[in-house]
Amino acid sequence: MKIFNFSAGPTMIPSSVMEKVQKEFTNYNSMGIGITELSHRTIEFSGIIDKTEANIRKLMDISDDYAVCFIQGGASMQFAMLPMNLMNPGGFAEYMDTGYWSEKAIVEAKKIGNVNVVASSKDALYARIPNFRKWKPASDASYVHITTNNTIEGTQYHSYPEIDNGVPLVADMSTDIMTKKIEVNLFDLIYASTQKVLGPAGLSIVIIKRNLADRAEKKNLPTMLDYTTYIYEKSMHNTPPTFSIYLLMLVSEWLLKQGGIDVMDKINTVKSEVIYECLDSSSFYNNFIESPHRSRVNIVFRLPTKELDEMFIDEAEKIGLIGLSGHRSVGGIRASMYNTMPLEGVETLVDFMYEFEKKHG
Ligand SMILES: *Cc1c(COP(=O)(O)O)cnc(C)c1O
Repeated sequence: MKIFNFSAGPTMIPSSVMEKVQKEFTNYNSMGIGITELSHRTIEFSGIIDKTEANIRKLMDISDDYAVCFIQGGASMQFAMLPMNLMNPGGFAEYMDTGYWSEKAIVEAKKIGNVNVVASSKDALYARIPNFRKWKPASDASYVHITTNNTIEGTQYHSYPEIDNGVPLVADMSTDIMTKKIEVNLFDLIYASTQKVLGPAGLSIVIIKRNLADRAEKKNLPTMLDYTTYIYEKSMHNTPPTFSIYLLMLVSEWLLKQGGIDVMDKINTVKSEVIYECLDSSSFYNNFIESPHRSRVNIVFRLPTKELDEMFIDEAEKIGLIGLSGHRSVGGIRASMYNTMPLEGVETLVDFMYEFEKKHG
């Protein structure tokens, strides 16, 4: 039976990539040693990390004004590292609160400095992105923080604040990085843990405007928590998570081979439309997100009762559709469909949804 993994993360890895990993796990590049045994100080590993960075730059069209860093500790580590590096002494940052993960980011930032929550959709139970059209950041704010896709709530920014007074815009893109075309230049810092969209856990990609790093430099932070360490030593100050970086290289290569982000953008649009069409044509399934703010990669819905939710998840699993339960904090159903989820998986899910409704609706 073919398994389609709808989990919010870690994500599916294309089978061609896994087969390559399987071979190279025991013998990398005909060296007679496996990839995890390879020293990070070899020419071969330099080749891997350089290639990974080059692939990411190409995929996202990142200019040389930005450094691309690989940092351990996932996105949760960035919740703390970001204010440690970028909060001005005695200063404050502005955060938009769009759900579970932005709340976590706010909690960590408050340990380092002051936080103004300038917009929140908490009152709307996070079923929308707050309206930021008329908002302007205070000119002395250290930075503005947004969470571009809300993995648990199923909402997504489809346009971004345009800031014209020089305050840096920072985005947690853990669950929509490389799933759609974005203008990197709109942001001053982008971070994303890699296990959600791209594959291996244990790593974040941090894309940071080089001139922002000057601010960090003056702070005398612990070496491993200082962005400049990663920028100036090309993420190789100490032993980086070599296997995760290697796997990221292969997945980014796979993305390039598929035709890059433009192609992913189109396929992801189609995939989400297929599901939302099914949800909207039914009174059995309920998606409660305001339609302009719906996520294209994490689609949440509920059935009429909790018991039906559970039955849905169990029966889906029996035909190979796994990982469909909503986050433990909210329940319900969540279908996560990043780049590596093929259209075939989404069509199988939708067929199942129509059938389940016929049987139980
Ligand atoms: C999962 C997630 C995180 C946390 O990522 P970790 O790598 O587990 O720390 C942060 N932000 C968003 C949007 C997420 O989906």
